[in-house]
Amino acid sequence: MTDSNLFDLLERFSSLTRIWFRQHPSLAELQPIQLSALMYLARCNNYSNTPLGVTEYLGLTKGTVSQSLKALEGKGLIVKSQDARDKRSVHMHLTDAARGVLDASLPPAFLAMGEARMGARGVQLATLLSELLSEVQRNTDIPSFGLCATCRFHEEVNGLPFCGLTQQQLAPIDAELICREHQLAIST
Ligand code: SF4
Repeated sequence: MTDSNLFDLLERFSSLTRIWFRQHPSLAELQPIQLSALMYLARCNNYSNTPLGVTEYLGLTKGTVSQSLKALEGKGLIVKSQDARDKRSVHMHLTDAARGVLDASLPPAFLAMGEARMGARGVQLATLLSELLSEVQRNTDIPSFGLCATCRFHEEVNGLPFCGLTQQQLAPIDAELICREHQLAIST
């Protein structure tokens, strides 16, 4: 398969996903960028749930992201809290209403059903795509936003995840969340 074929396939999936989101009744009130911000906040850890984290992840301007976050707050889908150490910094958290919206709509049914019909090959495909993403990220300067459990700073102390970069104990759930400080393990 050539690179162009792979790109065409990914682009088609992306277009199907956009159409599916647009038609889903639970998502009727949300702009695509607002939905993207919600999906990110549902997946990221406490180092990453800041306006800057959303801006970096989505690759958009600060102004656009700031307006979208204000709109989400107005709809009662996110709430802000002040950082315990840095009073100028805020964190954003999904409300129960937002979690309900995401639970009702993710993952897109067409994709979940297709993957289930492929059985073990569906799992294999997800592994291969994850490998491809790592390869791409290994050669770029863009933050990887990878899973904490796969980070080179991830450690385990007293049976709990521990961040070697910030020297802070993490909660068990953090290992499965994405992080803006994530760095891929250096391959030997
Ligand atoms: S171990 Fe890595 S991914 Fe996990 S919190 Fe620390 S910097 Fe982030």
